[in-house]
Amino acid sequence: MSSSETLQCVDAALEYARRGFRVLPICPVRGCRSRTCKPGKHPMVGKWQECACSDPTQIRQWFSKWPDAGVGIATGTESKVFVVDVDGQQGEETLLSLMKTHDWNPNTLTATTGRGRHLYFCHPGGKVITRAAIAPGLDVRGDGGLVVAPPSPHVTGAHYQWVDADKPIADAPAWLAKMVTESKVKAAVSFQAQHTSAEDVVIQEGERNAKLLSIAGKLRAAGMGKNEIETQLMSLNNHACKPPLADEEVRGIAHSISKYPPRKSKASLATRRAEGNCLPYFPLYVNEWLADRDLLFMDAEQRGWYLCLVLESWKGAGTLENDTDKLWKLARASSKKTFERKQDAVLSKFEEVTDEDRRPILVNRVMEELWRVQHETWQKKVAAGNASAKRSKQRNEANAEGNPLEPAQAA
Ligand SMILES: [Zn+2]
Repeated sequence: MSSSETLQCVDAALEYARRGFRVLPICPVRGCRSRTCKPGKHPMVGKWQECACSDPTQIRQWFSKWPDAGVGIATGTESKVFVVDVDGQQGEETLLSLMKTHDWNPNTLTATTGRGRHLYFCHPGGKVITRAAIAPGLDVRGDGGLVVAPPSPHVTGAHYQWVDADKPIADAPAWLAKMVTESKVKAAVSFQAQHTSAEDVVIQEGERNAKLLSIAGKLRAAGMGKNEIETQLMSLNNHACKPPLADEEVRGIAHSISKYPPRKSKASLATRRAEGNCLPYFPLYVNEWLADRDLLFMDAEQRGWYLCLVLESWKGAGTLENDTDKLWKLARASSKKTFERKQDAVLSKFEEVTDEDRRPILVNRVMEELWRVQHETWQKKVAAGNASAKRSKQRNEANAEGNPLEPAQAA
């Protein structure tokens, strides 16, 4: 790759396209007309996940329309690349700890960003997650994700730059490939399990059962079987619980959680919504929501918006449409402008993903899990109710035939 300083974004885009990357134009740092503009960060084209391409004619067209646009790369299977975004000091510290743990040196194509670094790796196949904060200060941009690439300008006045533009893109080491291709929950938990030592996480007596049960629930939801859950819990119990629970108890937790069916992740959101509304059966554990330490960093208005949005997300199985025009109303904000100004702290409680139809949605993972558990309980109650109604109807009919003078309900 040529040195970034001598390249315009359009030239860089054309070069990336030749390499097989799917590229797209990124909003210039002066900003654009979009109401939700984050200057220098977002794609200039709608439905970018479909529009990103390697076609020189299309690329020239984009950059003649927006000459000062930056260049983005759509990461994932088609570009055959994923990126680890190391954000700030915290990201560097996490990276260092991973390097020590795995005796590893990330010797691969690297770009400097406004606040940190982008490490490029060959796509390992399967589905690579796109997720913020997979570990402290580390984001992963995989399938369905994008990165702003050199020589795009950054709002700080700096430019994204290759550390060494000629460095080849390395294969991800096996542990990293595993970490980014496993299901999201598994990845988070396996990170937690790998890095759980006495100094890191301590689960105190009195919270051991609840904590392990909650983790077991996540593992089950991610599709793990009983034995796998048991292994993970045993390891966590030995490393983190002070003092550890008896092995028997841990096995009991793994056993009881395995009675729940794993999440049917294939079911579309629409189907899940159509399955019914169990809102009336939802106990709102106010304490649990208010014990969230992040609430300390919100002002009164933001806390109100947060609670409104979390409760609204219940109707969508823990999800909301990622559309500011709708969000500020759902949050009962006084105006869209106020909401936009202070929304970040609130929306950080939601994960940005796309649903099966590639529509942008926000997911609150806690609410999603609560919804799933409550929904199962509700369905069991409905089934039990139907069965009991059927039995009593049969009894009544039998009584009516046998002894027409006796009132049916006496049976
Ligand atoms: Zn913009």
